[in-house]
Amino acid sequence: MVAQGFTVDLDKPLAFQVGHLGEAYDEWVHQPIVTKEGPRFFHSDFWEFLTLTVWWAVPVIWLPVVVWCISMSVSMGCSFPEIVSLVALGIFIWTFIEYCLHRFLFHMKTKSYWGNTAHYLIHGYHHKHPMDHLRLVFPPALTAIMCFPLWNLAKLIATPSTAPALFGGGLLGYVMYDLTHYYLHHANPTIPVTKSLKKSHLNHHFRIQDKGYGVTSSLWDIVFGTLPTTKALKRAQQKY
Ligand SMILES: [Zn+2]
Ligand SMILES: [Zn+2]
Ligand SMILES: [Zn+2]
Repeated sequence: MVAQGFTVDLDKPLAFQVGHLGEAYDEWVHQPIVTKEGPRFFHSDFWEFLTLTVWWAVPVIWLPVVVWCISMSVSMGCSFPEIVSLVALGIFIWTFIEYCLHRFLFHMKTKSYWGNTAHYLIHGYHHKHPMDHLRLVFPPALTAIMCFPLWNLAKLIATPSTAPALFGGGLLGYVMYDLTHYYLHHANPTIPVTKSLKKSHLNHHFRIQDKGYGVTSSLWDIVFGTLPTTKALKRAQQKY
């Protein structure tokens, strides 16, 4: 049921409120609140704790796994040039996965109670509170779940000795993605590449949310025509 005129109480846990917004959820979640203070998601301290991740947990937890995967392939006889190409291919495949996840899963349109709730917990919270620094990178438990299909994909397209290095490359691509995403939100880039990535990601947040899905590069936005046009950006700017 759609509760007409439902308003979210930002001082109370949000996770089970936002579903009540019904069709109004999509608009609500795309009106950002830019404070460093994050909202509370759950009443329960245990569940609340699970939603908080410091950015450095990502390299600390996942880089050893990347190294371990690569060493598996080395021990099964892969040469150095092979390892380098497999890791590079893995990173490249990740950029495509990153684009698809962000465009098709994270930006799914929802209006049902549980649809909205799920969307909020997957990506909606990041659009509502984009500067919440403890809720920006993927929680490790979520990444661990994501590893299963990715590992199966690697096994499907590579041989037993090359699959670990390919998967390791994909995982390294993920680490680079999450760190870049954090960096774009919380740092002031000084070189042109990162400056333009930041600009394009902030456009995704604050101007045109259905364009500019690539975080680590604009490659797939160019391929699939989801780069925002300068015209559309100007129009969006006039709204503020
Ligand atoms: Zn987004
Ligand atoms: Zn969205
Ligand atoms: Zn972001």
